[in-house]
Amino acid sequence: MPNMNSKAGYIPIRSCVVCKKRSAQTALLPFFLLPAGIIYDLARKINTRHYYHCPACLAGLPKWRKKRAKN
Ligand SMILES: [Zn+2]
Repeated sequence: MPNMNSKAGYIPIRSCVVCKKRSAQTALLPFFLLPAGIIYDLARKINTRHYYHCPACLAGLPKWRKKRAKN
């Protein structure tokens, strides 16, 4: 997404994939999926679809991945 000057100071809201709670993007951990596993991209420099989870939900990630793999 292009950087809109008029939106300076705007903090995007993202949902945790595990608990679905919505938080500021900066409070969540961004990652993306490779066949080999989860890769964290904390600087969000990789141009791909990012997923987010809150730090407290780290333990719930394996369950989420399993559920996702079934669909
Ligand atoms: Zn969460």
